[in-house]
Amino acid sequence: MPSVAKKQPEPVKIQLRKNDQVKVIAGRDKGKTGRILAINEQTGRVLVEHVNIVKRHMRKNPAKQIAGGIAEREASIAVSNVMILCGKCGAVRIKHHVEQTPGGKTRRQRICHKCGQSLDKK
Ligand SMILES: [Zn+2]
Repeated sequence: MPSVAKKQPEPVKIQLRKNDQVKVIAGRDKGKTGRILAINEQTGRVLVEHVNIVKRHMRKNPAKQIAGGIAEREASIAVSNVMILCGKCGAVRIKHHVEQTPGGKTRRQRICHKCGQSLDKK
């Protein structure tokens, strides 16, 4: 095998945050909703609660409190396959609202593309 350096994928800017409610819009778990557990901008993938469940065959490791056997856990899915959920509209695109405060600072807020309601939890 020729030793070709593996091309590192460009990091993707992910507009989602941890604990966001998202809806899966493509793939095996299309239609499911869940909370974001982890985000990886390097690979452009997110981990969504109860979505893309895979079976892992675990070896017994008493030192790490692993019982062994078959465990079920979430596997990551591509960000492009999920959309954020707005409480009113359902799955929506994210719009950014930039606000100038009197102090000359800018505040960024993520808002729903449809109704303009804030998607950031206070
Ligand atoms: Zn909305």
